[in-house]
Amino acid sequence: MAKFVLIGSGLAGGLLAAYLGRRGYDVDLYERRADPREANIVGGRSINLAISTRGIHALEKLGIADEALQHAIPMRGRMIHDKSGDMHFAPYDVDPKKCINSIGRAGLNTTVIEAAQRYPNVHVHFNHKCTDVDLETATAHLVDSSVEAGVSPARAIPAQGDAVIGVDGAFSAVRQSMQMQISGFEYDESYLAHGYKELTIPPGPDGSWLMEKNALHIWPRKSFMMIALPNPDGSFTCTLFWEFKGPRSFAAMKTDEDVRRFFEEEFPDAVPLMPTLLQDFRENPTGSLVTIRCAPWFYRDKVCLLGDAAHAVVPFYGQG
Ligand SMILES: Cc1cc2nc3c(=O)[nH]c(=O)nc-3n(C[C@H](O)[C@H](O)[C@H](O)COP(=O)(O)OP(=O)(O)OC[C@H]3O[C@@H](n4cnc5c(N)ncnc54)[C@H](O)[C@@H]3O)c2cc1C
Repeated sequence: MAKFVLIGSGLAGGLLAAYLGRRGYDVDLYERRADPREANIVGGRSINLAISTRGIHALEKLGIADEALQHAIPMRGRMIHDKSGDMHFAPYDVDPKKCINSIGRAGLNTTVIEAAQRYPNVHVHFNHKCTDVDLETATAHLVDSSVEAGVSPARAIPAQGDAVIGVDGAFSAVRQSMQMQISGFEYDESYLAHGYKELTIPPGPDGSWLMEKNALHIWPRKSFMMIALPNPDGSFTCTLFWEFKGPRSFAAMKTDEDVRRFFEEEFPDAVPLMPTLLQDFRENPTGSLVTIRCAPWFYRDKVCLLGDAAHAVVPFYGQG
C-alpha cells in the first residue's frame, strides 16, 4: 500500500488522515504543535466555529458526526443587535432543524485526530515541524519543535512517502517549498484592512447563557461588526472584526477608557455582560485575515496541498 506523509493535524489534516487510514494506506501525520489532549492549544484561530452541512457531511462519511456534534450548539438564526440594544431574530430556515452549529475548535480537532488514530496504519507525530519538502523524492524535512528542544539547533529528520500532502494551513511550509521549486508557481496573498480580536461573555451564575443560546449573535455596524457564538459552558466567544488603522480602529485604542467608550457607544447591550472586556481587549491578540490563492496546488503525483494551505479564505463565506 502507498505511504502518505501528511504535514499538519488541523481540521483538514486530521480528517484526511482518517479517510486515508480507512482505505488502508500507511499514513505518517506530522504536527508542529504538542498533542492538543496534553496541552491547551487552540491553534491561533477562533476558539469556536460554525459548522454546517458541508462539515457535517465530511464527519458523517467517517461515522463520527454524532461524536463530534455531541457538544455542539444549534444556532437557528441570527440575533441582530442594533445600537439601541434592540434585538431582531432572523431564522436561517423555516425548518428549525436546518441550522448551523457552534462547536469548539479544540474538541473538533481532537475528535478528527482520534478518528484517524483508530486505524493502526495511521501514526501521528506531534512536536514535529516541517521546514521544507523535496518535491522530486516526496521527502519532508522535520525538526523537533517541542518546548524541551529549546533553542539548540535541531537536526532535520527526513520523512519520505509515495506522496507528501501539505495540510499545514494558510502559512504552509509545503507550499513555500513548491513556490521555490516549481518555476512559474503562482501565489497571491491579500490581507483585509480588518483584523479580529476574541472577547468573552462569561456564563451566568448558574452556568446559564446570558443571551439567547440558540443563535449566532451579530452587532452589525457598517464597516465593522462583533459576533458571538455560544459555548457549552454557558459562555459566548465574541469576535470583533475591525479596521487595524484609522480614526476609529484597533490602533486608535490607546487606553482602557477609549475601549470602554467605544463599546458603550457601539455595543451598549453587550457591555454589562462583559466584565473582563478591558482585560481581554488588552491581553488577547489581534489576528489578521488573509485570502491565499496558489497554482498549481500539486506537483506530479508527489506533493499536493489541501485545506487552507491550498486556498485560505476569510471567514465570511460560511465555510461550515
Ligand atoms: C477568525 C477565524 C474564524 C473562522 N471561523 C470559521 C467558522 O466559523 N467555520 C469554518 O468552517 N471555518 C472558519 N474559519 C476557517 C477555518 O479555521 C479554516 O478554514 C480551517 O482551520 C482550515 O483547516 P486546515 O486544517 O487547512 O488549517 P489549520 O486549521 O490552520 O491547521 C493547520 C495545522 O498545520 C500545523 N502546521 C502549520 N505549519 C506547520 C509546519 N511547518 N509543520 C507541521 N505542522 C504545521 C498547524 O499547527 C495546524 O495544526 C475561521 C478562520 C478564522 C481565521
